[in-house]
Amino acid sequence: MAGLRAIVCFSGGMDSTTLLYEALAQNYTVETLTFDYNQRHRIELESVQIIAARLGLPHKILKIDLTQIGGSALTDLKIEVPVQAEQGQEITVVPLRNTLFCTLAAAYGETQAIDEIFYGPVKEDFEVYRDCRRPFFDSLEESLSLGSSYERAVKIHTPWADKTKAEVLRRGFELGVPYNLTHTCYLGMRPACGKCGSCRARLAAFAEIGLRDPLPYQTMVADRD
Ligand SMILES: [Zn+2]
Repeated sequence: MAGLRAIVCFSGGMDSTTLLYEALAQNYTVETLTFDYNQRHRIELESVQIIAARLGLPHKILKIDLTQIGGSALTDLKIEVPVQAEQGQEITVVPLRNTLFCTLAAAYGETQAIDEIFYGPVKEDFEVYRDCRRPFFDSLEESLSLGSSYERAVKIHTPWADKTKAEVLRRGFELGVPYNLTHTCYLGMRPACGKCGSCRARLAAFAEIGLRDPLPYQTMVADRD
């Protein structure tokens, strides 16, 4: 029997692709929602279409141009994506991105009579993205439920919020996630750059669980062996 309907916010990266497979494993009837916010790494929009098509899932791309706000290396081409040090990743924070995306998902859900939303922040995200913390999502659930145009209980599922990227990856391998189809690089490169904070975090997670990342990289290949 088909389960509850849910919207999975899906970027094509490793965390949200694993999230998608987790929602399916929990027997939700899933629609995927991807945000085209005019991000620098537009290549991720190809990944979402390939993965959603492979799973035969309804797939919506919602356009919102956050370059009009800027303030982040992902939405302002004048700001360079940091590729060397671990520090300095704050510049990749898109102001209130998670707040905006969850709110838009709830708005779209209202038109589809879907109250369940899956969103994929992982434990490490808390360090730079303040709107990735569970108390924030609890508060947002309440606000969205109060603010919707009819009585509904919006639920934002964040199953990775207390899990590290490596733990999510381990779960993903159990679920058979095709990580070769996911996209992670903030520079939007294919092969991936291997240097940006996003690539580094991905490579570190694979290294931690002792598995090889199936994605091709421009650099650091030797370091991974
Ligand atoms: Zn990269």
